Amino acid sequence: MEELYNTAPLVYDAIMNEAEREHRNLELIASENFVSTAVLEAMGSVMNNKYAEGYPGKRYYGGCKWMDVVESLAIERAKELFNAEHANVQPLSGVPANLAVYDAFLDPGDKYFGLALSHGGHLSHGYKVSFTGKIWNCIQYTVDPETEQINYSSLLKLSKEEKPKLIMTGASAYPRTLHWDKFKEICDEIGAYFVADIAHIAGLVVAGEHPSPIPYADAVTTTTHKTLRGPRSAIILCKEKWAKQIDKAVFPGLQGGPHMHIIAAKAVAFKEALSPEFKDYQHQIILNAKALEEEFKILGWRLVAGGTDTHLLLIDVKSKGLTGKQAEEGLDKANITVNKNTIPFDKEKPFIASGIRIGTPALTTRGMKEDEMKKIAKLIDKVLTDIDNEKVIEEVKGEVKELAEAFPLYAEIRKSKKGV
Ligand code: PLP
Repeated sequence: MEELYNTAPLVYDAIMNEAEREHRNLELIASENFVSTAVLEAMGSVMNNKYAEGYPGKRYYGGCKWMDVVESLAIERAKELFNAEHANVQPLSGVPANLAVYDAFLDPGDKYFGLALSHGGHLSHGYKVSFTGKIWNCIQYTVDPETEQINYSSLLKLSKEEKPKLIMTGASAYPRTLHWDKFKEICDEIGAYFVADIAHIAGLVVAGEHPSPIPYADAVTTTTHKTLRGPRSAIILCKEKWAKQIDKAVFPGLQGGPHMHIIAAKAVAFKEALSPEFKDYQHQIILNAKALEEEFKILGWRLVAGGTDTHLLLIDVKSKGLTGKQAEEGLDKANITVNKNTIPFDKEKPFIASGIRIGTPALTTRGMKEDEMKKIAKLIDKVLTDIDNEKVIEEVKGEVKELAEAFPLYAEIRKSKKGV
């Protein structure tokens, strides 16, 4: 990064320091991952320079020959990966993808259902401060108070009472399997559109580690940077019969020029995701989450919904007298990165929260397996049970360093660092 160093040394320095932080810390944020250098190279390429409003073969700008090549590759690979009839690879990120889908199926003011934020849903599933909760009338469904999982018969009952035009399914902090067939039955019963947001679990879906909503849903949205391990972005998959209205909602409805460097990077990431190694990787993500589950249970922590079937766990830290914020901050001091998260029926606001969310995709990319997960659960427990003890934090930090050194990340990039 010679030119970057010469032109903007402070930016160079921040980027290099971030590479160092990613290597040094144990990254357990469930929505994060580490992309390959091939993906990074595509993102940092001349594809950034081009306006390409429109779609392959139908652009509003000249000179789009190579734009058509990369976008067509991304589309075909996305369709193959998910076995989908149609793919739009232009959404800039997960929230815009969801906005486009709502716009495709709903008129302003129409009623739809989304899972409540503190029950695992995402802001863009109709939370009151999000545009998705302002433009349309969103009724938020919740999980069952006993099981902390979706209760499909309660959802059916509520659907019959409220008659939403669309049901948004999927989640950001829901550790259990989502039963698409049951959502489909409910949608059919009331004649609602069925949309699935698989942002978190897309990689698992591709690898057959979680059921796919593709056969059931009218449209499926996903970010591309979580378990899918691609650039920070999103795609929409849908049945052919909705292709035109989805495409129209993305462009010209919501966006202008597509980010072609990111679309090129999606084409790269999708090629990687089509490989047999990617399937093994997704399987290991699950094994690692299960190893964490087992160890946390042995250590006496309460897990929301009783455990996990996916890449993430929600730990109820309130049950041991902590807030999510305290837990996040304490772990951060020991170089263990997690995020505070509300848990179902939480009395705390999202900024304080009663839980922490822990996910395995990023550390699995570094090559860590079940033994490391068990060690990490013990380190987390050690910090959380003595959170104000600086000596404990220093000890854990030392053990984190050893683990990080044994599973190096972005070594080539870090090695080239120059002083500013
Ligand atoms: N949908 C779900 C289920 C998510 O978890 C997220 C992000 O965490 C999004 C959508 C939003 O994605 P983005 O942050 O790319 O807009």
